[in-house]
Amino acid sequence: MTTEQTTPHPRVLLAEPRGFCAGVRRAIGIVERALDLYGAPVYVRKEIVHNHHVVGELRRRGAVFVDSEDEVPEGAVCVFSAHGVSPQVRAGATARRLDVIDATCPLVAKVHQEAVRFARDGRTILLVGHEDHEEVEGVRGEAPARTLVVESAEDVERLDVPEDAPVAYLTQTTLSFDETAEVVQALHRRFTDIVGPHGDDICYASQNRQNAVKSLARSCDVVLVVGSENSSNSQRMVEVARREGCPAHLVPDVTRLDERWLDSAGTVGVSAGASAPEILVRGLVDRLTALGHTDVRVDDGTPEDVVFAMPTRLADPETGRAPRTPLADEDR
Ligand code: SF4
Repeated sequence: MTTEQTTPHPRVLLAEPRGFCAGVRRAIGIVERALDLYGAPVYVRKEIVHNHHVVGELRRRGAVFVDSEDEVPEGAVCVFSAHGVSPQVRAGATARRLDVIDATCPLVAKVHQEAVRFARDGRTILLVGHEDHEEVEGVRGEAPARTLVVESAEDVERLDVPEDAPVAYLTQTTLSFDETAEVVQALHRRFTDIVGPHGDDICYASQNRQNAVKSLARSCDVVLVVGSENSSNSQRMVEVARREGCPAHLVPDVTRLDERWLDSAGTVGVSAGASAPEILVRGLVDRLTALGHTDVRVDDGTPEDVVFAMPTRLADPETGRAPRTPLADEDR
């Protein structure tokens, strides 16, 4: 064996896929395109996606982020975030005559439609998710009087609903696949008249990123997930790696890297949540390279080619297609 083979450079293994999903690209593209077409300011209700870098860039270009539609001047352009909104928010926007552009991810919109259908069928909706997440707030708003939020298998035991009551479950799109399966099993054990979506509503992007991070965890000494603290899918990726027995940390950006995490780590796995731009991954990898992890490789994974159409009013007038926009397309 050569010396190089016995003492290889410390490695970086990049997850595939990682970073932006189709819903996030579409949502960012909607704000960029609205700024191009209508000029600043464009109001955005809540963070368009849960990433501080993305929000900061769009703010720099003229987007104004507000917590409530009530803060938007009457008649102004207002974008709803990728996480979706309740019917009550839509009604508030209509009352203020806002020019709404809806950036709700189509996969979140599908969960809303399921909630409406189950409520119409007279079922109590058991929404598996995190109580304070915007997506859960929006879905619960479809049938607030008949929706209960369930976070864990223990919560299922505490539900004050008769065993034979007609119930339906739905799940937040960005949950941990394995933990959600446990909660859904607990629901099936507890209720006799229960229906739900096929399996769950966890989206393709969350599943693919969790599978990729599992693969990293099996071959790395530590896993770093680029993503903001309020990003649900990024937090779940950290948890998934830890459940595989690998130390894992969330890294909002390279300034938050704690070099002690790398102590004696031969292979460092790097991934990014669905709302984290590739520029932040590059910053982290550059730092790891400077620290001696010079052998950078991409793990085998599932290529993604999902694209969601833009609202017609924002499409390119000549081609009718979604125009490329700088931030949404920066890493393509
Ligand atoms: S993570 Fe999934 S549900 Fe959320 S925006 Fe991306 S594709 Fe849509």
